[in-house]
Parts: sequence; structure tokens; C-alpha cells
Amino acid sequence: MFELKLDDEEGRVRALERLEILDSEEDAVFENVATLVRQVFKVPMSGVSLIDRRRHWFKARRGIGVQEFARELSFCARTIDQPDVLLIPDTRADPLYAEHPFVVGEPHVVCYAGVPLTTPDGYNIGSLCAMGTAPRAFTPEEVGILSSLARILIDSIELRQTASSDALTGAMNRRGWTTEAKSELRRAARYRHPVSLAIMDIDMFKTVNDTWGHPAGDIVIAALADLTMDLVRDHDLFGRLGGEEFALLMPETSPDQAAVAAERIRASFESLPLDIGKGRPIRCTVSIGVTPLGAEDDTLEQMLERADQALYRAKRGGRNRVICSSG
Ligand code: GH3
Ligand code: MG
Ligand code: MG
Repeated sequence: MFELKLDDEEGRVRALERLEILDSEEDAVFENVATLVRQVFKVPMSGVSLIDRRRHWFKARRGIGVQEFARELSFCARTIDQPDVLLIPDTRADPLYAEHPFVVGEPHVVCYAGVPLTTPDGYNIGSLCAMGTAPRAFTPEEVGILSSLARILIDSIELRQTASSDALTGAMNRRGWTTEAKSELRRAARYRHPVSLAIMDIDMFKTVNDTWGHPAGDIVIAALADLTMDLVRDHDLFGRLGGEEFALLMPETSPDQAAVAAERIRASFESLPLDIGKGRPIRCTVSIGVTPLGAEDDTLEQMLERADQALYRAKRGGRNRVICSSG
């Protein structure tokens, strides 16, 4: 079992960021659990709350008007400071909460029950809560149900992580990357922010496999992934599309900046000694095709197609190079 870490706020925020669940799109499991909490406890409000550095953000909510508010105002922010359930049967009778703006004003929270959402590494990232506008006690059995539902949510977060990541490299797999990339493109188009895409493919990789064997090839693939993940920014989306081919979607990145980033990856990989366990290290190179998000109706499929064509030109032009296509 894990050890609960209640006094490591920095680690807690990093755990939350790693899960990439803040500000994410609607998710059926969370929606269903929020609905279930409201039905089972017969309360007007329920929520799956995530506590960011300074704000409370609802991953799912029922009967609650706002999506987020300041952390200081959050009941759930108190829940995550403790190992288990926080129960407030009557906020008006509790000196800690009687004057709270959500008690004296909308939405008039009178009863509250919240259980922490604890990650397997022991961080409370948020809470699952039920709230009502009349006083109410919660029985141990009800607390047990709430805790079980919280575990279902954590399991589902975990499962989603495993299902979308590639075992060899730790990069996202094609499916995970495509989902994330599409949602990033929607966001970028909405705010008219630049985004660039790079596709990379290791050069003459069949020769590596044929000469040194498949396990050596795997080492080379993993090395390119490691190197890239070290070089790119936290918000860049890096996925293994298959074999020795990777995609990198770079938010807030102009075509020029993307070309620089791609060139850095190419040059670093070229000069990286690869220890495949055969005595002397070998060296490989990679070709990269880059394209920016183009006109308003541009799609991920079209971007992939353009980046692929640029990659093809890089291969035909002699490999070990970056070629950019316009949007
Ligand atoms: P090019 O420079 O034109 O890209 O030539 P290439 O030899 O790299 O050609 P290609 O990209 O078509 O080669 C892909 C090879 O990758 C073929 C396939 O056997 C191998 N491969 C696919 N998946 C894996 C894997 O998981 N591990 C290893 N070791 N090899 C893989
Ligand atoms: Mg290939
Ligand atoms: Mg190749």
C-alpha cells in the first residue's frame, strides 16, 4: 500500500499535472459517478473536484452553477488536507463554516460529505463530494459508498493512463496521442493560437534490426523517445504512432520555433552514442517533417498528411534532416 503524503504540496501538484486531467474534456465515468452520488444520497448537489495550486475545478458537477472558484473558498480543499472523509452535517452550526460565502449566499451549502481522491502514489488530488441545502448526517455505510465511488474514479484515471501510453517508450500511443492532439487543436483554433506538428522517423531502421537484431532496434527507438521527452516542453504532446515513427504536437509554437525544436532533436540524436550492448555503441539518425496549423478549417488528418509529405521529402533528400511544409 502507499503512504499518504499530506505535507508535500509541490509533489501533489506535480502528481495532478502528470495525470493531465485538469481542464480536460467531459468524461462519461465522472459524469455517471456525479449523477449516482446525487441519486444515492438524495442531495441536490454533487461534484468531482480537483484542487489545483490556487483553484478548485470541477471535473464533473451536478446542481452546481460554476465550474471553478478560488481554492480558499473550497470545502473540498479542506477534505484533501486529511486522510479520509470530511463530514459537515450542518454548516450553519459549525463556527468554521457558518459565515462562509457559499453558506450564507448561493448555493447555500448546509450539509457536506467529501472523500479524497488519492492517487496510488499517495497524493490527494481532489475529492468526490455530496452537498445539500438542509442539515443531514451521513451514515458510515454512506461514507463507505462514497469512498468506493472515489476509488472507481481513481482506477479509471489510472486505467486511462495505461491505455493511452506506449509500453516500450512511455510516450503516448497512437490512440492516446490522437485524442489529446485533437483536443489541443480545438483549443488552439478557438483562441487562434499557433500550433505546430512534427513527425519523425528513424533513418534506415530496417538495417539496424537486420544487423543487430530486434531488441537492439527497440533500444534505439526508446533512446529517441527519451531524448525527445528530455528536450521538449511539458505541454508538448509526444506520441509513438507506430514502429520507429513519432509525432510531436507543439502548442504555442510558430513554424520557425518548431523548426528550431525539430533541428535540436535531429542534431542531438545524430550525436547520441547508442549502447545496444554489443561492445561499441552505434549511431543513428532521424528525419523530421514539420507543419503548422493552417487555415481555420485545418484538421489533424490534414496536418499529419502535410507533415508526412515533408518527411518523405526529407527522406528523399538524403535523410538526417528537417523539412518544413507551409500550413
Ligand atoms: P527509412 O530511412 O526510409 O525510414 O528506412 P527504414 O529502414 O527506417 O524504413 P521503415 O521506416 O519503413 O522501417 C520501419 C521498420 O521498423 C520496419 C519494422 O520491421 C520495424 N519495426 C516496427 N516496429 C518495431 C518495433 O517495435 N521494434 C523494432 N525493433 N522494430 C520495429
Ligand atoms: Mg517508418
Ligand atoms: Mg524509418
